[in-house]
Amino acid sequence: MKNDYLENIAIVGCGLAGLTLAISLAEKGIISTIYEKEPEGQLGGMGIQITPNGTDILTHLGLAKHLKEISSPGNKISLREGFTSKKLFAMDLNHFRMDTELGYITCHRAKLVKILCNRAKQNGVKIRFNSKIILEEFSKDRVCFRTQDGKEFTSSLLIGADGYRSAIGRLMNPGSHKDRPDYIALRGVAPTDRVAFSEIKSGVNLFMSPGQHLVTYGINKWQDINFVAVRPVDEDYTKDSSLKTIISRFDKPPLLENLLNHATELKTNILYKGQVKPNWYAGNVCLCGDSLHPMPPFLSQGGNMAIEDGWILASALTQSSTAREAFNHFRSLREYRLNRIVKLSNSQGWINHLSGGVMPKLRNWTLKTIGSTFPLLISSRYSWIYKRLSVDK
Ligand SMILES: Cc1cc2nc3c(=O)[nH]c(=O)nc-3n(C[C@H](O)[C@H](O)[C@H](O)COP(=O)(O)OP(=O)(O)OC[C@H]3O[C@@H](n4cnc5c(N)ncnc54)[C@H](O)[C@@H]3O)c2cc1C
Repeated sequence: MKNDYLENIAIVGCGLAGLTLAISLAEKGIISTIYEKEPEGQLGGMGIQITPNGTDILTHLGLAKHLKEISSPGNKISLREGFTSKKLFAMDLNHFRMDTELGYITCHRAKLVKILCNRAKQNGVKIRFNSKIILEEFSKDRVCFRTQDGKEFTSSLLIGADGYRSAIGRLMNPGSHKDRPDYIALRGVAPTDRVAFSEIKSGVNLFMSPGQHLVTYGINKWQDINFVAVRPVDEDYTKDSSLKTIISRFDKPPLLENLLNHATELKTNILYKGQVKPNWYAGNVCLCGDSLHPMPPFLSQGGNMAIEDGWILASALTQSSTAREAFNHFRSLREYRLNRIVKLSNSQGWINHLSGGVMPKLRNWTLKTIGSTFPLLISSRYSWIYKRLSVDK
């Protein structure tokens, strides 16, 4: 083993960050253990968009063939007016295919996670399901932690890839977690052939109406349409608010009404404005993915950033001679990009929800008029995100 700190790495969380990290390390000959609180087969979610910066990494990990089987290409994103569905601007996503086989894809998150889990296991990664990790302190050398049922473990490093509710992230950044969410999302899946609106039967669509937006795209090879409607939380929101109460808070243009009427799955999610936490590591423990930088899904980048983090952290770990050097290297490679993406995601929420006065009209006019004459001016706001990372692979 090149470095002692790579000898026995524990990764908390079997999500996109933890799995990408474990697979990338295994590709470099370093076998880690993932601890996941949920049982196997319960790592669900609904739809997810993986953009070319994410599919590029998954392609390098040899997963393109499997991903093709479960995903559809997201050929274009159409930005539309929320009530009339009128198209304001469309961005051609084929433009961002780079030389990966996949480009921009949409798929069911549970299927994506299953592919990653299978690859991790094939590469020798041990995944301990039903293992909720409790970490109480950041020791300098070996990390001691336990599972909720009392089993004790030690590892050379521990990576907190435990998502936006991360207990490890809170321990490392006390006071950075907000109790009250900023947005509430209605996430659903409806069979494509039951949906009456043909405009959402291809590509990715974003419908913007005052104080609310809706995103739709195909999953399960377009057998189903995944939809996410988002609005700011109301004053009277509590975490016990029922699904019925939450649905009643949403405006329901005919399209959303139609999707809700035919939904086979429907869930709510609370969302927070994005932030990059100030402390990235302590002792031999480092954060990665949503635990480090929770962000609202308005640019579909939370999962993609988790994939990028996993890939780059693996590279930093194998190129350094101490854990501290590796974590600092990881931070130096990620901080600027993450801050930029978090800020852009937050501002996209503001743009999507513009209401009152001339602002929504001005936004729509800009998208329509500037978009038809100088489309690159609009798409350049997003296109830099999708470019290949210039990092040593
Ligand atoms: C409505 C919505 C739509 C979204 N759409 C997109 C999209 O289109 N594209 C995109 O890129 N992103 C999207 N995201 C964001 C994306 O889902 C997340 O950013 C991404 O899943 C983060 O990955 P992660 O690995 O950091 O965390 P997670 O995927 O949350 O994984 C964390 C894992 O850690 C486990 N865990 C937590 N605590 C413990 C513990 N103590 N012990 C053991 N295990 C633990 C959890 O069970 C979980 O499996 C969306 C999010 C939402 C809410």
